[in-house]
Amino acid sequence: MEKIRSDHQKVKQSEEALTGFIATAHDLIFCCRQDGTLLYLNQVGQDMIGSLETLSDGASLFSLTDEEGKGLLVRQFEKVTQRIDVGHFEMRLVSPTVCRTLDLEVSLSTCCKEVPDQMIWGVCHDITERNLAQRELIKLAHHDVLTGLPNRILLHDRLQQARALAHRMHSRFALLFLDMDRFKIINDTLGHAVGDDLLRMIAQRLKGCFRETDTVARIGGDEFVVLMLNVADRADISSLCDNLLIELAQPFMIRNHELFVTTSGGICTYPDDEDDVETMMQKADIAMYHAKALGRNNIQFYNNGMDQNASRRFTIANSMRRGLDRGEFRLYYQPKLDVSSDCIVATEALVRWQHPELGLLAPTEFIQLAEESGLIVDLGEWVLREACRQNMAWRQDGMQGLRVAVNLSGYQLQHSRLVETVRTILAETGMPGELLEFEITESVIMQNPDYAVEVLNEISSLGIHISIDDFGTGYSSLSHLKRFSVNTLKIDKSFVRDVENNSTDAAIASAIIAMGSSLNLKVIAEGVETEQQMDFLRDNNCDQVQGFLISRPLPAEQALKVLRQKCIGELAQGREALKDR
Ligand code: C2E
Ligand code: MG
Ligand code: MG
Repeated sequence: MEKIRSDHQKVKQSEEALTGFIATAHDLIFCCRQDGTLLYLNQVGQDMIGSLETLSDGASLFSLTDEEGKGLLVRQFEKVTQRIDVGHFEMRLVSPTVCRTLDLEVSLSTCCKEVPDQMIWGVCHDITERNLAQRELIKLAHHDVLTGLPNRILLHDRLQQARALAHRMHSRFALLFLDMDRFKIINDTLGHAVGDDLLRMIAQRLKGCFRETDTVARIGGDEFVVLMLNVADRADISSLCDNLLIELAQPFMIRNHELFVTTSGGICTYPDDEDDVETMMQKADIAMYHAKALGRNNIQFYNNGMDQNASRRFTIANSMRRGLDRGEFRLYYQPKLDVSSDCIVATEALVRWQHPELGLLAPTEFIQLAEESGLIVDLGEWVLREACRQNMAWRQDGMQGLRVAVNLSGYQLQHSRLVETVRTILAETGMPGELLEFEITESVIMQNPDYAVEVLNEISSLGIHISIDDFGTGYSSLSHLKRFSVNTLKIDKSFVRDVENNSTDAAIASAIIAMGSSLNLKVIAEGVETEQQMDFLRDNNCDQVQGFLISRPLPAEQALKVLRQKCIGELAQGREALKDR
């Protein structure tokens, strides 16, 4: 009897130890029937989902999960009662007490064999926090932190899905690669905080231009990619793109700066340019570079011919530093003729590159690449020094009042050392500021007008003349023009080309001339190729002309011959100076 009593005591003690252990365990422990009816919940379980008394539905575990969860439990219960190992599995419970979902890692066991309605014990580890962190990590890994847009990884994924879907549904999608024009300048001059704000605003505008089902991703600095699903045809895509360019062209107000941004884009479509995902991205990228080469602020569709350009561009970009170090760049000079006196009053220095493998390269092939790499600063400095040196040499030769015009890229204009460099070079070469002219395109000035006003004023105070190049192609308004210390408007050659046949172009050209004169600015027309164009310009009182009709851009020695014929040195300078007053 004593033995039985002591055995009973031991069983009771170990039972108490066990229930004590279960009750205080850190994991949720439950016991239920195969139909889900809960028989026991330890303290942690009651804290998480409430006590058995407070739970409705006969306290069934199944009522705490959705249909999918219930199905999973039923299957796992069945297996475990048949002694099949179910290992760990994850399930989600909805806690009625705290109204939140709980992610649990569950392991199950049964204690009695061959009993009809077996009790099932479950130990559940709360992994809600872990899953949340994991989801956050996945989100971070798939989204760009700055703009919140999908990043390259997620884009790649969506692209793969789009490809598979388009294949199955025989539908078309378009991949649009966008790169903001001259964005580097904004970061470099206004600082990264402004650059970041601008990128966020651009991201918002881009999203606003496309449908919810499209993907707008940011894949690098100022590079965005849009995946447009279910597009009908090229016309459909083109109209979306036109709309996008218009939207982006609206000014951005950031920390008191009014900033203008343009973008260049390349498109490839499925199935027309069908290829693997990586290659399709490359095709859109290649088309984007093509758009940049065409003068930016436009979007181009990919075609096979563009591939050759891509490898050429690669060679050019990679040999530029070396070319600069080895002195492979040359300056050509194109005269500017004063219409009333028929005298050459200035030349424009236009850079060329005598490339050892590719031959003589035009600036349109390398200026943009030089801007992207930042090499434009060194190249521009070389151009300025060489142009001043040459002009001084001509001066020694008797071309006294001849002015030389140098093109300034946007990147140079916004570079903090510009004015200092100009001062140094003028001092070094002995060139009077009055004999130097800078040609700056309208779009470059308009990108950050406030900043441009400041720099142009400083440049102007050195006596240097300032021309707005390619005038008529940008967004200048009269009100903006008045703020700049500008001396000359240079009518873009696209308006000059058709003055004889296109009444709109003729109207624009004569309006620019009239506007220039009312603002006390000189007007020069570029790209004059025919006598008829010349007549039109003369009749409309255009001050100066430049173009193949007078002379092509020429190397210095040949340019000198043209100058000798038509440049009357001091006299021309005297007239110019009089007119400027
Ligand atoms: P731009 O300053 O507007 O120069 C005018 C361009 O038109 C030149 O092309 C010139 O050769 C060409 N041109 C001149 N007369 C005629 C004509 O009668 N008909 C036609 N169809 N074209 C004519 P180029 O030399 O290829 O230069 C292209 C652009 O490259 C220039 O446009 C300028 O923006 C840029 N560029 C040239 N040199 C430099 C430079 O040293 N620095 C910078 N930043 N840009 C430069
Ligand atoms: Mg120019
Ligand atoms: Mg021009």
